[in-house]
Amino acid sequence: MPHDQYTFDDPVTRYARVDPPVQHQPEPGIQAWMTPVPDLGEKTYRGTGRLAGRRALITGGDSGIGGATAIAFAREGADVVIVHLDGEQPDAEHILSEITAAGRTGAAIVADISDRARSAEIVAEAVAHLGGLDILVNNAGKQVAVQRVEDLSDEQFEATFRTNVFAPFWLIKAALPHLQPGATIINTASLEAYVPAPDRLDYAATKAAINNLSKGLAQQLAPRGIRVNVVAPGPTWTALQVSDGVSDEQMAAFDEENEYKRAGQPAEIAPAFVFLASAESSYVSGETLNVNGGMVTP
Ligand code: NAD
Ligand code: MG
Repeated sequence: MPHDQYTFDDPVTRYARVDPPVQHQPEPGIQAWMTPVPDLGEKTYRGTGRLAGRRALITGGDSGIGGATAIAFAREGADVVIVHLDGEQPDAEHILSEITAAGRTGAAIVADISDRARSAEIVAEAVAHLGGLDILVNNAGKQVAVQRVEDLSDEQFEATFRTNVFAPFWLIKAALPHLQPGATIINTASLEAYVPAPDRLDYAATKAAINNLSKGLAQQLAPRGIRVNVVAPGPTWTALQVSDGVSDEQMAAFDEENEYKRAGQPAEIAPAFVFLASAESSYVSGETLNVNGGMVTP
């Protein structure tokens, strides 16, 4: 078991290879039922007050990268509202208990963000819980691998774009009236934004789109003192993978897709979100922070 995130050790062996048994769950997948269960930093993340008093909304904050980010934000002193789909309550309860254990206020909103009308309500509900909003993390994502473009349905293509691109756009518009100078928007791209896998055409295209949108928006919002940045994870062991995110072959070889020859854990991605949410990154906007086990990106 690694020590906290400030411990110097060999990054290659800091976490064990996952070597996952091939497993399947219906979308969106319950993290608690995975083998092995992803590491969200429950035992390791050490807060130092970097987000004291900040108020954060994290979509997909019930599990994986968003869940690890919710735990980290709370331990850094933030109150956190998470958004998740109906059915993910077992994972959401785990995150809420970690937020509460950190001494912060936590709440969960059950919503399908790909529904325009429901999406519009989320920010108002979050602001009601938090008394305002300083940090918007667009992390929820849909990824379903399809081998042949002929089999990629229009419905899936549209649903992936609605979840990964349209919903962040809607949430940003709803959040802006609440954001003061110093507030931050953090979107979630992927290594796939630059290196699209052949069986993830819709997904990879959304990640390129959100990366690009973030860089344009960062320029637009700079004069208002609102920063926009992106975290682009590489292969990370989460429920996304076991709910048809990758093929059986890719799951079996999940540790091989990076230079460390081990998959990342959500606990290793969360500190990137903390950095971009904190005032330490005050001169950083329009940036994509790649957290991918050494893979080369543009
Ligand atoms: P995850 O399954 O643990 O989290 C994704 C969450 O998205 C789900 O828990 C679910 O609550 C939410 N979600 C999906 N569709 C939704 C909808 N319509 N409405 C509301 N919520 C919805 O998986 P994760 O890997 O932690 O994913 C988090 C982000 O990281 C995603 O944007 C994903 O694309 C990105 N990412 C993941 C990897 C990886 O290897 N795991 C790599 C690069 C990028
Ligand atoms: Mg989940």
